[in-house]
Amino acid sequence: MKLAARISQVTPSMTLAIAAKAKALKAEGVDVCSFSAGEPDFETPAHIKAAAKQALDEGKTRYGPAAGEPELREAIAHKLQTENLLCYSAENVLVTNGGKQSIYNLMQVLLDPGDEVIIPAPYWLSYPEMVRLAGGTPIIVETTLESGYKITPEQLRQAITPKTRLFVLNSPSNPTGMVYTPEEIRAIAQVIVEADLLVVSDEIYEKICYDGAEHLSIGAVGPEIYERTITSSGFAKAYSMTGWRIGYLAGPPEIIRATTTLQSHSTSNVCTFAQYGAIAALKGPQDCVEEMRQAFAQRRQVMLAGLNALEGVSCPEPKGAFYLFPDISKLGMGSLEFCNRLLEEQQVAAIPGMAFGTDANIRLSYATDLPTIEKGLERFERFVRSHL
Ligand code: GLU
Repeated sequence: MKLAARISQVTPSMTLAIAAKAKALKAEGVDVCSFSAGEPDFETPAHIKAAAKQALDEGKTRYGPAAGEPELREAIAHKLQTENLLCYSAENVLVTNGGKQSIYNLMQVLLDPGDEVIIPAPYWLSYPEMVRLAGGTPIIVETTLESGYKITPEQLRQAITPKTRLFVLNSPSNPTGMVYTPEEIRAIAQVIVEADLLVVSDEIYEKICYDGAEHLSIGAVGPEIYERTITSSGFAKAYSMTGWRIGYLAGPPEIIRATTTLQSHSTSNVCTFAQYGAIAALKGPQDCVEEMRQAFAQRRQVMLAGLNALEGVSCPEPKGAFYLFPDISKLGMGSLEFCNRLLEEQQVAAIPGMAFGTDANIRLSYATDLPTIEKGLERFERFVRSHL
């Protein structure tokens, strides 16, 4: 079967594939400890579910505007104004099927063949593929453990060419959990303004920061960067709503209008009654977000201490998100072989670093309960010992 060239340039999402494999093994009765997909294990808070149920009962079951329910767009704009100091109104906001679709849409409306997009590695695995699917060229800039896996302003400056269109910023980061400090964000903003680029700021993990790490939205740094920023986020991580598929893109009205046009011919509106759950998430009590963050913080400590106690494994302390990104290169296996064998020999599921642009690491999501973390650590230790 001849398929279009664009699809043969990309590979299936490894995070989704490994998470699905772990779930399938569990369903077969295999006792798997899964640290694969970044998916909070909590139930969606009850008041959010109740709002969606009520919307369903009230008949909110019809097509809605492609850009999203007006009340939700307004609530998102209000949140971005008050919490992130981003001066947006409803016309600056598009409601999407998750943060993934918002970035996908953006690439589709911004990029022409040959346009370059700078992506620091380690990166979330879908960014380069979304760039390729839009006909653009991902320019990967390697970062190091020493720089906290963050791109430096100098590195960014050096990667810019006349073809550069966009820079992808993700803080807190998936997969490293690193958080750019406000000073670092300001320095990056300066480079973007000087070079007259655009930046997409993926802030899906903004609510999950530890040890006082502060999240700063790059678009809030000043008027010049505000005009060049497109902010992407969603409800999945902060409110444990992964399966709801509700995200958003916020930015200059012409970009939002273009992404709305694209969406009007692809997926149309996000599930109407689900959007009412998202409205309740934003307008309702926020304690649930903090409770989950505290649970992640505790798990992070347990998992980090367990990993760093192992000979041959070293793991920097992340300041956000819910991932650890240990270096496993001393064990003499590539990350894919490591993860395949870890699953086969100890029934522990993890994501190979190669999916995120580095073969020296693996990614472990600790958005899972403590008993699983403790059991998983014991198995991980057995695995590492047997391969030292
Ligand atoms: N963003 C999550 C992860 O990295 C969910 C899976 C995905 O969409 O890639 O695990």
